[in-house]
Amino acid sequence: MQKSIEKLEQMLGSGRIKSDEPLANHTIRKQGGNAEYYVEIEKLDELIRIVKTAREEHLPICLIGAATWIEIPEEGIEGIVIKNNCRRFDVISMRGKIKDQKIGVDNAYVYAESGTNVNQLVRFTVGEGLGGLEYQLGLPGTVGGAILTNARYTPKSIYFVDAIEKIRILNKTGELQDVQADYFASLPLDASSEEIILSATFYLHPQDKKILWKRGQEAVEYRSKVAKQPNL
Ligand SMILES: Cc1cc2nc3c(=O)[nH]c(=O)nc-3n(C[C@H](O)[C@H](O)[C@H](O)COP(=O)(O)OP(=O)(O)OC[C@H]3O[C@@H](n4cnc5c(N)ncnc54)[C@H](O)[C@@H]3O)c2cc1C
Repeated sequence: MQKSIEKLEQMLGSGRIKSDEPLANHTIRKQGGNAEYYVEIEKLDELIRIVKTAREEHLPICLIGAATWIEIPEEGIEGIVIKNNCRRFDVISMRGKIKDQKIGVDNAYVYAESGTNVNQLVRFTVGEGLGGLEYQLGLPGTVGGAILTNARYTPKSIYFVDAIEKIRILNKTGELQDVQADYFASLPLDASSEEIILSATFYLHPQDKKILWKRGQEAVEYRSKVAKQPNL
């Protein structure tokens, strides 16, 4: 295993990979044992390279977002734990019609890397007056984690993926692939280290900001009353 780690270090630069790292230092729930090896990744191209190389080296990978859902075992995790800090997001395009000499926006596409904090993304979209993600306000975790765990606002059965147009993944065979929003809903949850979620494109609609914030607040109040639960 040491040789595989040296290969990864050559690629990333020395000092990036830590050994015997306590995962409680990197997770909201502050539980569990140590990672045999641990690295934080901020760029998608680096995430792709490290996953491909680790796979070639048969080094076990555990990819985590904010680790609000995953249970870190007390005995720790073998192989390399990759903390996904790829957090870029923005509006990428808008569609609309010209009416009465004004341009009206019918919908907007927002792109987010998979390590984006969901709350930050929701606040941004609501602040822009774009509806579709407002009931995910207060959902802890990252875009990748929310897709993989099929996160939802239970009282209204509104799923995080309902607002997604497409998801870009690094698939099992190492190719980039665009899949539909419900792709992960049909996969077992432990498929996470085989299919790496890289980014998602959201399809949102202009709406009154006051209404969006009100809906978001409703969801925040609900979430503050319940604890972490896979079946929320
Ligand atoms: C206080 C609290 C409230 C919550 N409320 C809700 C709620 O209302 N609704 C709900 O559905 N859930 C809820 N949850 C559960 C949790 O917040 C969600 O499941 C969240 O979306 C997980 O995101 P994460 O980044 O923390 O994932 P993690 O815990 O880091 O990872 C979860 C799984 O996804 C995999 N994974 C992470 N990123 C990727 C990626 N990029 N590619 C492939 N696999 C990946 C991991 O390997 C792991 O198997 C709540 C949790 C807490 C603590």
